[in-house]
Amino acid sequence: MNRREELGVLKERAHVIKARLHLLNKRIEEIQVRPRSPDFKAVVDLELCVACGICADQCPERAIVIDKTAHVDTRRCTGCGRCIEECPQGALSLCPEEKADRGKIIGIGAQARSFR
Ligand code: SF4
Ligand code: SF4
Repeated sequence: MNRREELGVLKERAHVIKARLHLLNKRIEEIQVRPRSPDFKAVVDLELCVACGICADQCPERAIVIDKTAHVDTRRCTGCGRCIEECPQGALSLCPEEKADRGKIIGIGAQARSFR
């Protein structure tokens, strides 16, 4: 591997580590200040979501659909937090049900950002 190739690999690894660190810090914050509860629903930050589908595969309630980005059906979401732990982009978070409901099922990312 030449220097240029190695640089590309290292940058890619740094990007993955940065995304994971962001996710971990968000999760720590959520555990500390927002305990897991059925009163909480997952919401998607549409600017961070890359539509990889990992969250939809992991959701036990099949509450997430992928259509260019992830979208959460708040009627199905139980606030278990599994999708948040799995998202490599840190694009998911939990918010109180009444705030998530206001965002409808599609396009709640903007509302998710305003909640932070
Ligand atoms: S896991 Fe994260 S990045 Fe992937 S589709 Fe779900 S919200 Fe988007
Ligand atoms: S919090 Fe749990 S139930 Fe809600 S969308 Fe995420 S994985 Fe599904």
